[in-house]
Amino acid sequence: MTQTARPHVDAGVDTDGYPVPWALEPEHHDWQRAMRDFCADVVAGEAAERSIEGRFDPELVRAVGKLGAFGLLAPERVGGGGADLRTLCLAAEELATVDSSLAVTVHVQAISVALLVHLAADREDLLRELVPSASRGETFISFGLTEPSGGSDAGNITTSARRTGDGWVINGAKQFITNSGTPFSRYVLLFAATGEGRKGRPAVSAFLVPLDAPGVTVGPPYAKLGWRASDTHPLYFDDVHVSGDALLGTEGRAYREALQFLTWARIPIAAMSVGVARGCLTDTMRFVKDRQSFGAPLGGYQAVAFQTADIAAMAGMARVMTYDAAWKYDRGLPIEHEAAVAKLMASEAANKAAYTATQLQGGYGFIQETAATRHYQDARILTIGEGTSEVQRLLIARGLGLSV
Ligand SMILES: Cc1cc2nc3c(=O)[nH]c(=O)nc-3n(C[C@H](O)[C@H](O)[C@H](O)COP(=O)(O)OP(=O)(O)OC[C@H]3O[C@@H](n4cnc5c(N)ncnc54)[C@H](O)[C@@H]3O)c2cc1C
Repeated sequence: MTQTARPHVDAGVDTDGYPVPWALEPEHHDWQRAMRDFCADVVAGEAAERSIEGRFDPELVRAVGKLGAFGLLAPERVGGGGADLRTLCLAAEELATVDSSLAVTVHVQAISVALLVHLAADREDLLRELVPSASRGETFISFGLTEPSGGSDAGNITTSARRTGDGWVINGAKQFITNSGTPFSRYVLLFAATGEGRKGRPAVSAFLVPLDAPGVTVGPPYAKLGWRASDTHPLYFDDVHVSGDALLGTEGRAYREALQFLTWARIPIAAMSVGVARGCLTDTMRFVKDRQSFGAPLGGYQAVAFQTADIAAMAGMARVMTYDAAWKYDRGLPIEHEAAVAKLMASEAANKAAYTATQLQGGYGFIQETAATRHYQDARILTIGEGTSEVQRLLIARGLGLSV
């Protein structure tokens, strides 16, 4: 076909993604439909404005909270959703098709609630007190691991907790902490060095620290490239006294325990990457069907159609890897390799999809109102947060037996 011929554009393309029926039960499909309707009815409308203005919307949090999305992984016994990882992934994916900021807001809270339940398994009273309101999004528990000195080597913690007569005194700083400065933010699940561990590395413990404790300062929000309508701050701890029962889990073992437990947490980020790639596909299809160039719709030119096909293929590949990993996790199968591979491949695919989607829209792909532009901005963090692509490669390589 020459560029001057009038090409045919087929409007009947399914941009919903690559189905994975083997990985999903009927209740997953019901949840997926509910999330999809919620996104269309409640989330999508002002997603562009929120992102452009960098506006965190408490009303949206309340609306998601009514769906119980924040505590999906916590057991029903203590007021959580009692759902599996695939359910959280479906929420993350659907939200990210229109609003990655809301997706990460849910993701971080879901992780923190699940980790709280894991570390405080012997503290039924604490869980019954916190989990119900945390699941509704009325009480945010942020996740305080990354420090100004670096997040990839996250165990090399310099924030310290020193024993006093009746508790602990905490000093140090945390960086890039999501959900730490919202009207719902009450606690940070903080990792701090409580002594020396093996090979000169710190022994790390976890603490539930109230954000209104004297000596805690929530720094100003970061001006971010993407996830602009999510809430991210530095936290500073200056002689913060907490009681003895702020310690969660075993003293000096929290980092290893959390790291092992949270292997699955890379998979919802992969799911968000699927959502971003799908969002890119939807917006690309809208544009290439409408946009006329040289007297014909863009989507009829083979060069454009092939790039659009690549976005669909990348979204499908990411989807299969993501739900394979989540499906295995829900069956109690090992997922160390799968979680790293899914996170690596899906997040890199989302970035390629977003690059292509913005390129295909020309100047509109540089304008913030355009959904593809928002996905481009939001995709960038996906290869960085929850372990960078390099860290995923380290994990995969080590799993292969290479001593990196
Ligand atoms: C918007 C946002 C929200 C976040 N939310 C949270 C949160 O809620 N809680 C939290 O604890 N953290 C959070 N983070 C932190 C995030 O997890 C870290 O940014 C991430 O882990 C990378 O750490 P770093 O930024 O310190 O980069 P560094 O670790 O300094 O890495 C810099 C670069 O060096 C590379 N690198 C490092 N080591 C190696 C190596 N051995 N080999 C090869 N390459 C290497 C990395 O891949 C990266 O490219 C958030 C970050 C952002 C931007």
